Formats: sequence, C-alpha cells, structure tokens
Amino acid sequence: MSTPSPWRPPPPHIAIVGGGLAGLAAASILVGRNLRITLFEARPRLGGRASSFTDPASGELVDNCQHVSMACCTNLDDFCRRVGASHLFRREPAVVFLGLDGRLSRLQAGRLPAPFHLAGSFLKATYLTWPEKLRVAWGLACLRSKKGDRPGESFADWLLRHGQTVRTINLYWATVLVSALNERLDQMDVGHARKVFLDGFLRNRVGFQMEIPLAPLGELYGTRLEEWLAEKGVTVRLTTGVRTVDLDDEGSVAGLTLRSGETVAADFVVLAVPFDRVLALMPPALVARVPELAKIDALRASPITGVHLWFDRPVCPLDHVAIVGRLVQWVFNHTALQGRTATADGGQYLQLVISAAYDLLPLDNAAILDAVLAELSEIWPAVRDAKLVRSRVVTEHGATFAVRPGVDALRPPQRTPVDGLFLAGDWTDTGWPATMEGAVRSGYRAAEGVLADLGTPFHLVLPDLPAGRLARWLL
Ligand SMILES: Cc1cc2nc3c(=O)[nH]c(=O)nc-3n(C[C@H](O)[C@H](O)[C@H](O)COP(=O)(O)OP(=O)(O)OC[C@H]3O[C@@H](n4cnc5c(N)ncnc54)[C@H](O)[C@@H]3O)c2cc1C
Repeated sequence: MSTPSPWRPPPPHIAIVGGGLAGLAAASILVGRNLRITLFEARPRLGGRASSFTDPASGELVDNCQHVSMACCTNLDDFCRRVGASHLFRREPAVVFLGLDGRLSRLQAGRLPAPFHLAGSFLKATYLTWPEKLRVAWGLACLRSKKGDRPGESFADWLLRHGQTVRTINLYWATVLVSALNERLDQMDVGHARKVFLDGFLRNRVGFQMEIPLAPLGELYGTRLEEWLAEKGVTVRLTTGVRTVDLDDEGSVAGLTLRSGETVAADFVVLAVPFDRVLALMPPALVARVPELAKIDALRASPITGVHLWFDRPVCPLDHVAIVGRLVQWVFNHTALQGRTATADGGQYLQLVISAAYDLLPLDNAAILDAVLAELSEIWPAVRDAKLVRSRVVTEHGATFAVRPGVDALRPPQRTPVDGLFLAGDWTDTGWPATMEGAVRSGYRAAEGVLADLGTPFHLVLPDLPAGRLARWLL
C-alpha cells in the first residue's frame, strides 16, 4: 500500500481585478511562483485603454487610439519582453517634427554626451528662430532645479516666469508636453513637465527614442496576452465584472463578489481598475476610514481624441510626424508601420492623435473630421484630391487622469491599509504620468507587495535608464 502524500495547503489565491496593463503586468510577474492567479476583466477583451475594437465596416482591428512609448519606459519594455512581444515594436532613432512653414526637423542624438546629445539637432530645427532656441535652452536649464517652484503653479505660469514667450510655449513646450502628459500647459503640474524633459530627453542618450507598435493593440495586449497567461496557468475570466471587494470580520481581504452575484474567495486582491471605479468597489465604511482612498475622488480625467482616416491613395509621405502648433498633434502612417491599407487595392491608413482634447468635447464627430481634414489638406495638398474611403473619430473622455498641479498628493500607494488589498493602475503613486509605463510599474509594485506579504520579498520594478556621467553631474 502506497503511503498517502502529505497534505499541503493550496497555493494562495491572488485575484486581479482589471485586465489593463496594470493588471496584466501584475499577473505576468506573479506567474511561476506557485500561486493561483485569477484575472477578472469586465470587458470581453484584455488591454484596457490600450486596446482595439473591430471596425464593423472592414472587420479589421482598429486601435482605440495610437499608443507609443519611449525607450526610457524600462518596465513596459521588461513586460513586453516577459510576454514575448518585444519584436512587435519599432524603435525610431529620430522624432520628426513638421513646422508651421511645412519644413521637417529631426530630433536625434548627435555625438555629444547626455544631456547635450540632442543639442545639435535642436539647434538645426527650423520651427523656432535662433533667439527662440536660446530662450528654450534657458528654460530647460532653469527646469533642472525645483528650487523656484511655487506650490499649485501651472507649468504655463512657470514658463512665463522663466522667460518664455507665447511662441516658444506654443511651438516648443506644448508640442512636446501636451501629448506626453495629455494636459494643457495652463493646467499642468510642473513636476511632471520636469520629469518628461529630464528623464525622457536629457539624462540618457536613447531615452527619448519612440517605440511604435507594429501590430494592433488588441493583438499586442489582448489576444496574445490571453494565450500567454493561459499557458502560464492564469485563469482569465473575461466579461466578468466585479461588484465589490469583500472583507472578513477582522477587516482583511476575504475575496470578491462578482456582478453576477457569485462570490470568490481570495487571499489577495489587486484592484487594477481606473481611478473612477475604485471607490464603488470598496466597502463604504473602509473609504470613510482611509483618507488615502477618499482622496481618489478628487482626481480628474483628461480627454484624448484619436482620428482614423482611410484614403484611397497615399497622402502622407512620412511614417510618423509630430505637428508643431496645430490642432492635430501626431500623425502615424499605419500603412508604412503595419502594412495596413485602406482598401484591398491599396490606399493609406493614418491615425491622428489630439491630446488634452478639451476644446473638441462640444463638437460632433463631423465637425472634428472637417477641422482635421482642412488642416491635413494644408499640410499635404494630396489630401484634397484623395477620396476618404472611411473615417472614425474616437474621443475618450476619461483617457487619463489629469496631471493638474499637486496631483501626486492625490495618488495612493499600491499597498492599502487593508491586509491583502493592493491597488494598481496608472493613476496610483508611481511618480510617472498616466502612461503604460506607469501602469506596468504599478502592477509590478502591487506584485512586490503580495510577495512581501507571502514572506518572499522581491524587487521587481526596474530602475530608470542610467544617466550619463555628465548628465548626472549637471542635472
Ligand atoms: C486615447 C488614449 C491614448 C493613449 N496614448 C498613450 C500613449 O501613447 N502612451 C502611453 O504610454 N499611454 C497612453 N495612454 C494611457 C494608457 O492607455 C494607460 O496609461 C494604460 O493603458 C492604463 O492601464 P491601466 O491598467 O492602469 O488601466 P486600464 O487600461 O483602464 O485597465 C483597467 C481595466 O479594468 C477593467 N475594469 C473596470 N472596472 C472593472 C470591474 N468592476 N470588474 C472587472 N474589470 C473592471 C476595465 O475594463 C479595464 O480593462 C493612452 C490612453 C488613451 C485612452
């Protein structure tokens, strides 16, 4: 008679609520550690805000909006490598800007070490005059130090106090920051603006380089992730909304109640939902007693409009371009980037991005389309002769949390005072703005918390790119 194998307790159950990048990052880094992981996602697909929908007109996957990252996004990069998706990105060595005069300027690293590696190409840029470039350089030099910061001041006011003019603000600072932070300069936190320039552009020679996806988001962070997680033993429950996080009599996490009424026991819950959903999922008594949670209510959202245009012929000669001083901020040529055409015989598919799109909120999609087409016709006259085969305007009202002055004081840490309950999401305290990198960092930090509580602490969040020696000294 064989001896019965000794009883072992079942592995701890980690319930992750939300299948956006924060939840996916947490799940991806917790696999292989003898844990039972279930991911609950309300929608029928993974990816959250970085996802695609099926265009009824063509049956194709269409991104809710173009998503790009930068080489300084070390944790997003790690996540993509971990899940085997790194090869689905293209790194751009230069960022191309199109000035109001129609001339192109390329921002790329020259021979000088950081923080001067971009100086040569910046000085060659044609969208600013020489005195304006010197003014911008002075602004950047002042931005290094936090000393003169005034609490509650917007970045627009900071710029005016540091010698910037309406032209340098609109043509330079807004061009870089409005899309990077999805906020208007007159409502933007100074610390976040500083972070974009220091960490993104100045500290490291490659940090500014863009990573552009070569596949639809729905494939990158949706179907591929679903398969990867299933292979690693994660139970993914799509179309499964969570109604509440449940606590036991001692106030520790007990599990979840789903919208269907089903209850699920869990040892840990990682709540990785958008900030405006969190409080509704928490027991109200808990929110009243934990000030960090109550503060979430004061976070505000900022909108992004994405415009998809399918033309019967090529109209845009570039793969990507940042447009200076106009309504449309970025154009991405998906025919060049992803080989996707407008019709079976060819044509061109462009994705346009307008961040901090507050001014577009009162307009209907037809008016937005008219404004965008008028602008593109001025830039590329071929647009006037081309036939617009299809178009789609998608405005995400709550695209990201708004990086208003002092916003970081409202962002809670991932660890909550409740035993077993962790928060994740781009809006939690990561030091990063609302980005995929911020979302992944938050998921990794929540996972660090879970592992620490299980007695196996690990440092999972990767450091920033190393600063160059001169940059370290000067910045
Ligand atoms: C239009 C647009 C353009 C953007 N462009 C960029 C860009 O270029 N670069 C960049 O870095 N970032 C960009 N972002 C931001 C980026 O998409 C987000 O920072 C990131 O995807 C947030 O991930 P998350 O996991 O924190 O949240 P989310 O992606 O919002 O995921 C939360 C998930 O929780 C689910 N959920 C909510 N409630 C429940 C519930 N009760 N039960 C179960 N599930 C629930 C939601 O369905 C969702 O899938 C953009 C965002 C938008 C909207």
